[in-house]
Amino acid sequence: MTTSPKDEFLEALREAFGVDGVLDDERSLREYSTDASPCFVVPRAIVRPRSEEDVVRVLEICSEHGVPITPRAAGTSLSGAAIGSGVVLDTSRLATIREFDPREGWVRVEPGVPLADLNAFLRERGFRLPLEPGSLDWCRIGGMVGHNASGYQSVKYGQTRDYVLRLRIVLADGSVLEARDVPLHGTEWSDIVSRVPALEAVRRSLEAHREAILGSRRPVKKHSCGYDLAHISETLDRGVFPLADLFVGSEGTLGIITEATLRVLRVPPRTVTLLLFLDAFDDLGPLVRDLLPLGPCAIEGIDGDSLDVLGREAYGIPPQARAMLLVEFDEGDLEALVARIVREVAPRYRLTRPVEAAFDPDRQAALWKARRSLFPTLLRRPGSRRPWGFVEDPIVPTARVPEFIEFLTELTRRYGTVAGIYGHLGDGNTHYRPLFDPTDPGDFERMRALRTDFDDAVLDRFRGAPSGEHGIGRIRADILPRVWGPEVYAAMRSVKDALDPRGLLNPGVMFSSAAWWEAWGGLDAREPL
Ligand SMILES: Cc1cc2nc3c(=O)[nH]c(=O)nc-3n(C[C@H](O)[C@H](O)[C@H](O)COP(=O)(O)OP(=O)(O)OC[C@H]3O[C@@H](n4cnc5c(N)ncnc54)[C@H](O)[C@@H]3O)c2cc1C
Repeated sequence: MTTSPKDEFLEALREAFGVDGVLDDERSLREYSTDASPCFVVPRAIVRPRSEEDVVRVLEICSEHGVPITPRAAGTSLSGAAIGSGVVLDTSRLATIREFDPREGWVRVEPGVPLADLNAFLRERGFRLPLEPGSLDWCRIGGMVGHNASGYQSVKYGQTRDYVLRLRIVLADGSVLEARDVPLHGTEWSDIVSRVPALEAVRRSLEAHREAILGSRRPVKKHSCGYDLAHISETLDRGVFPLADLFVGSEGTLGIITEATLRVLRVPPRTVTLLLFLDAFDDLGPLVRDLLPLGPCAIEGIDGDSLDVLGREAYGIPPQARAMLLVEFDEGDLEALVARIVREVAPRYRLTRPVEAAFDPDRQAALWKARRSLFPTLLRRPGSRRPWGFVEDPIVPTARVPEFIEFLTELTRRYGTVAGIYGHLGDGNTHYRPLFDPTDPGDFERMRALRTDFDDAVLDRFRGAPSGEHGIGRIRADILPRVWGPEVYAAMRSVKDALDPRGLLNPGVMFSSAAWWEAWGGLDAREPL
């Protein structure tokens, strides 16, 4: 009897990892064919490594059989970046916190460590990783690095990139790279290049396209739109290759992270949360502008239409409020800050009711509840129109957020639906969830037209970017060339081709001309997370 190529491949995997380490039953294939995006790609198998050696071995076997590989952490990607047609590498068993240095303030972890577990470990010792994605109860470190995640606190604490000190990476050819800042004029760089010549090709390509790369920057506070070539080029100008930064935000397309060393910060002794409701939406922009210089660690806003969607009564939201703002501070004389806001800032605006300032953690949690409930409430709305994510993560220059929210509100009305519009306003990062039924041909056409209008406005009118934090994945791959322009896109592609010449690492993600809806599937049986 002859064995099929699929069997040979699976046999090789099973021989290496045992029955327990390899899954290809129908239920598992279905489970791993989705992430939190609307995309759907059935893998050939799932492999669950227990060590870096296992990761190297998976790559060897995949390489031998020409099968692509998609690293996956918790699978909460909102852009379809954690699914793939070959092997899905489930890293959840690589979950050890290896070393913590309180004196220097860093921690060394495996990529499958859940953020919640890491923060619980750190909190007991007075530290934390101050990144708070909405998925903080589920996401894992490898996935946060993969997407360069940020969240509620990014206005003050930035993105995952700001905390990555070094990464251990298994490259496509199975070699292991210690990725960290390396001076270009020294033996260390020549040693690295002699082992990984592709890195010199990357350096040359970035040098050749330096002007276009630096000129392609957009006036936004953060982004998760491909490799951060501008930052890398600037650092190269100073004679250092920030190797780890090449892999942050690379969405599994350049290598597999097997260890991350992360900077951690002390837990602030106290915080204060302020809740403000505004009678006039127009006041939102100037109010945010007045608050930003005071150094908040979070500024989250929800517009009036979204407050209607949320349901005002359930959350005690005044009927006439046209915007809600949550602001948090974690440093300085908090009482004096609150007094200053109440006495000097608030009177300049038409507040629906007096500012509420909460120091008590329980009350703070209650104030955050409306913001945190918006998305689940959207999900629970009855009817076939659901908040599928296809335009959900734009970022624009901070000063233009109110104008941008007005644009989104008008866009929603123009296409005859309702939407959730909320987000990290201090960063200019909005989450936009218009409700449609993509299985209805009329709605599908409306979604396509809306997406075109949306892309044009974000990129051209607002000079923004399509993803502030959720990544390019499959959902936004078709517009990546427009974000940075053809030359810089080609430079990004050259980085990918140098490090993964056979295109085995997460193909279809980040570099693809497939339209955003082509990988969507199984929507009838799924929740639009
Ligand atoms: C309800 C909800 C709220 C969210 N809120 C936020 C938010 O506020 N801010 C935010 O930034 N994101 C948010 N997200 C998106 C997502 O949760 C984050 O990007 C998160 O960091 C992904 O982590 P994960 O463990 O699920 O990674 P996955 O989804 O498994 O993977 C993400 C990417 O990383 C790659 N990857 C994973 N592990 C590795 C590895 N070992 N080596 C190389 N590449 C790897 C994957 O291939 C993929 O490209 C939200 C998602 C949901 C569902």
